[in-house]
Amino acid sequence: MTEHHALKIIEVAVPLPLDATFHYGVPPELVCRMKTGVRVLIPFGRRKITGYMIGNVPESAEKIRDIIDVLDEEPLFTEKELDFLRWSAGYYFHPLGEVIKAALPAGINLASRTRSVETADGTLSREEVLKGGRTVKRETFYRALPDVELPVNLRGKGLRLLEYLRRVDEAPAGLLRREFAATTANFHRLQELGLVEFSEREIYRDPFREEVFTHDAPLVLNFHQAAALEQLTAAGIKEQFAPFLLHGVTGSGKTEVYLQAIAQVLERGRTALVLVPEIALTPQLVRRFKSRFRCGIAVLHSGLSDGERYDEWRRIRRREVSIVIGARSALFAPLSHMGIIVVDEEHESSYKQSEGFHYNARDLALVRGKMEGAVVVLGSATPLVTTYHAVQQGKIGYLQLPERVRNLPMPGTELLDARGRKGATFLPELIKAIGDNLAAGGQTLLFLNRRGFATYLVCEECGTVLSCPNCSVTLTYHRRRERHFCHYCDYSIPAPSVCPKCDSQSIALLGRGTERVEEEVREIYVDARIGRMDRDTTTGRGGHARVLKGLENGTIDILVGTQMIAKGHDFPGVTLVGVISADATLNIPDFRSSERTYQLISQVMGRAGRGDAPGRVLIQTLNPEHYAITRAVAHDFAGFYGDEIIFRRETGYPPFAYLAVLVFSGNSAPEVEKGATTAAALLHRLKREAKSRVEILGPVSSPLAMIRGRYRRQILLKSGQRPELHRMIARFRGQVKLPAVVRIAIDIDPLDM
Ligand code: ADP
Ligand code: ZN
Ligand code: ZN
Repeated sequence: MTEHHALKIIEVAVPLPLDATFHYGVPPELVCRMKTGVRVLIPFGRRKITGYMIGNVPESAEKIRDIIDVLDEEPLFTEKELDFLRWSAGYYFHPLGEVIKAALPAGINLASRTRSVETADGTLSREEVLKGGRTVKRETFYRALPDVELPVNLRGKGLRLLEYLRRVDEAPAGLLRREFAATTANFHRLQELGLVEFSEREIYRDPFREEVFTHDAPLVLNFHQAAALEQLTAAGIKEQFAPFLLHGVTGSGKTEVYLQAIAQVLERGRTALVLVPEIALTPQLVRRFKSRFRCGIAVLHSGLSDGERYDEWRRIRRREVSIVIGARSALFAPLSHMGIIVVDEEHESSYKQSEGFHYNARDLALVRGKMEGAVVVLGSATPLVTTYHAVQQGKIGYLQLPERVRNLPMPGTELLDARGRKGATFLPELIKAIGDNLAAGGQTLLFLNRRGFATYLVCEECGTVLSCPNCSVTLTYHRRRERHFCHYCDYSIPAPSVCPKCDSQSIALLGRGTERVEEEVREIYVDARIGRMDRDTTTGRGGHARVLKGLENGTIDILVGTQMIAKGHDFPGVTLVGVISADATLNIPDFRSSERTYQLISQVMGRAGRGDAPGRVLIQTLNPEHYAITRAVAHDFAGFYGDEIIFRRETGYPPFAYLAVLVFSGNSAPEVEKGATTAAALLHRLKREAKSRVEILGPVSSPLAMIRGRYRRQILLKSGQRPELHRMIARFRGQVKLPAVVRIAIDIDPLDM
């Protein structure tokens, strides 16, 4: 590593939590391979790390070091994509190198890891770089067995492996070999000691690979669809940014409009990006795209191995596909010449990345659409209040599909007032309705937004509540597994028979989840065929498909589930939907709780009566007069919006204010407290200096004061002006000095607080 004044100097972003980018020299033999967008191996402190070449620097006064190697033949991102990544990094206050890393498929990063682990001298062949891209078909997964005493003689690598496995759910053998240099002997030893178990499984299977797709012709659009498409066509031919809300209930023909708008875009030689909340929940949508279009389609779903995802990514980069369908992260797909971006179910919270790089793919879709000069279509039956407000302001075009294509009647909905009725799972009206529906041969969906059996265990003697030692939540009892689990970390304990504090036997399991509902249903309807769909019953690939098949073939009469059953599926046989409790989302202290409740109830209602029989929906609630519930039942979005916008204006929440949350976390409560207090003082000083009107609220402890052993406090910043808010955060970031053990996460436009 020579230090000198190099001829060519480049700017490098590194995937580390550092705001700065760095300058490096390029040795003459590497100059011809240097392009913006390639990865470079660089000396960094005493380490060698991978960075991203993001531009040339004319000259540098500082003494700089040389890069060691160029890791790619072709750039991983274009200048245009880099602009977008820079914008995102700036907007969300996240280091550019980490944003770039998050935008690239993990397969690439695996490859670079292989490389830096294996190279002592920094010379490696390119074959090895591509290793991460190779498709792995089967893999062995190791998991730590819970509650096994640690043998005293376990040390070194074996101990590190075990500690790691106890922190994660499970880990593939390949990763353990790579990261820990684990050997077969290490694995055997841990197995002999009864500390781990393993299973082998296929880690990738394209659920669509074996399917043969018929060729579907475009449908003749109805009046409203044709009107919507006409506007999209008119905007599309201008090849300029144009955002639209496509507002229509499920079954109103939104997807058909997407398909035909995309067909036009492809004819003009442009490409299309389709974002969906979660691919596993929308196989029908993917099928329709595959049947309609003969062009290359990349589907970025969660079942892809890192290698396969990397392969899909390269197909997109090489322009072998014209359509990309994927969840949140597909927003960063290297598609060029985009003509249209569709964000289906734009109101879904899953568009928000809530860890690491906190971005919102729905919001960024508008930004990318602007940079690409593309039409952006936000589709939803229950648009965000902020989206509808933008429509009212004329900032977003409005396309409405006011009725269902097959003019099916909307389901008849009844509210069941659960007040004063002792918290029974089922009110008699619901029990009767399910019975009647069974007798008539109809299928029933029962919805409860909570999994597990009981949400907490309480000792009636001393009042002790079983809670997680690492998180400030109660432990949920799962009956089938006879254990209490934390839903935020991996902690679990066997179900106790007495109070762990006072040994009393009078312990009660309170609160209910889907598992208990399922059991109660079994007790009431002994002859019915009953299924459950939640995260516990659908783990592993194909889990969803299995449960849904049962509903499709009519081998399930009653399906109990969490919000999973509320999403996108079409079940003609479902004629009754019961909502066990509409109140869970309403009681969350969050400015969006009404909006979420409205969305959830509307979605659940959409599950009934998709076939020929008219559907029926019964909703049990303790808040039968709340506008979120009454408006949902009346299918009255405009009415709901009218109520909600008043609340938002009065309380000063979006769209009337822009928000940012600063979350301080660490293992030591006093240090976190100190960090947050110091930060607040700095914010107040900055506010005075800039005479700004940003409101500084807090610090207070986060809604979950501790997660995974980390204490959390937060400060909420609110402002009517986005630039003012961003200026303050930028200054804050430049000046803040926190205790070394305290981490800060900045969440711009938080969705829940
Ligand atoms: P959404 O995306 O709003 O749920 P879809 O586009 O999936 O609506 O349409 C609902 C159903 O109606 C689908 O089965 C679709 O094939 C059918 N459909 C949509 N548009 C038409 C049309 N113009 N003519 C006939 N059937 C249609
Ligand atoms: Zn007790
Ligand atoms: Zn926990």
